[in-house]
Amino acid sequence: MSEKELDYNTHLVVWGDHRLSKQRSKLISRGREIAESLDKLALTVVRDIIVEIDTNGSLKRRAILDPVSIEGKLITDVSLGYAFNEKNLLPERKESYDFRIGDTVTIERISGFFMPTNVVKEKRTGNEKVFTMPDKCPACGSKIETPRPDCAYRCTGTACPGRIKAQLMAFSDLMRMDLDPELARELVDKKMVWDPADLYFLRKKDLMQLNKMDEDSAQRLLDAIEKSRHPELVDILSALLMTGDFPLGKSIGLGIELSVHCNSISDLLDAGVLARIKSIWIKPNDLIKKLHKLMYDSTTSKFLEKLKRGGVIFPRKSGD
Ligand SMILES: [Zn+2]
Repeated sequence: MSEKELDYNTHLVVWGDHRLSKQRSKLISRGREIAESLDKLALTVVRDIIVEIDTNGSLKRRAILDPVSIEGKLITDVSLGYAFNEKNLLPERKESYDFRIGDTVTIERISGFFMPTNVVKEKRTGNEKVFTMPDKCPACGSKIETPRPDCAYRCTGTACPGRIKAQLMAFSDLMRMDLDPELARELVDKKMVWDPADLYFLRKKDLMQLNKMDEDSAQRLLDAIEKSRHPELVDILSALLMTGDFPLGKSIGLGIELSVHCNSISDLLDAGVLARIKSIWIKPNDLIKKLHKLMYDSTTSKFLEKLKRGGVIFPRKSGD
C-alpha cells in the first residue's frame, strides 16, 4: 500500500469511525431512553393476595409479588386498592379488578406509587387461583360488610387493631414522625398504643421494652415525637380528618384545601369556610355532613383533648 493510499484509507477509517461514533452515540442515547422507560415498568408474578385494613376500617387487597426492581427500588408487594363485592361491580370494572394468584402482572410507578397496571392474560395457564374475600376481618375476626353496594368492604369491629395500626402509620407520616412500620405494629400488638394520641405519652423506659430498640433509637423517636408537638395547620387538619371517617387520600387533599381557608382547627365548621369549600368540592353536601359529624362527635373532642394533654400545640395562623 502506497503512502497516498494509506492516507486515503486512514481518512476513510477516521471518517467511518466518526460516522459510526455519531451513530453509536445516537444508539446509546436511544438505548438509555429505552432502558429508562423499561426501568419504570416491570413484569412479575403475584404469589399471594392478602387483605389489609385501611385507616377508616375499609378493606384493601395487597398483592405479594416475586421481588422486582423498578428505578432501583425493590418491590415485593403492591396495593390492589379497595376490596369490593364482585357481584356489585359494573361489568367493565370486573375485568380490571380480576387479579389472581399466579398472574403475571406489569408494575409501574404512577404519581409516586408503585401499582399493578395490567394482567398479562396471555400468560394465564388455568392454574391461577381466583381470590376469594374472607367473611371475617383478618385482623380482629369481626364481621365484614359493604355499607352500600358501591362501597368497599369494611370491618365492623370497634377497636380493630388493623385499623389502629393503619391510623398510627398515617398519623406519624402526616405529623412527620416517620414511625417504622414494624415498630407501629409492635406498639399496637403490645397494647402500648390504642390511638395515635397515645404516642405523646410514651416514655423512654416503655420504648426500651420494644424489640430492636436501643437507647439511641428510643431517643430519636422521642425527639421526632417532640418535634411533632408543634405541627403545621395543614398536617394536624389532615391527621384529624384521617382519624375521623375520611379515607387517607381525601384527608390529605381536604386538609390542604381547608388549611387555606381556616386559621385554626375550630374554624372547620365556620360558615364562611364551609361556603368556600362548597363552591369547589365535588358532592359538597356529603362532605359538609361528614365534617359536622366529625366535629360534633365525642370521640373527636376526646381525641383533641388527649392530644392537648400530650403537649400538642394546636396551630393558629398569624394575624388571627
Ligand atoms: Zn377488624
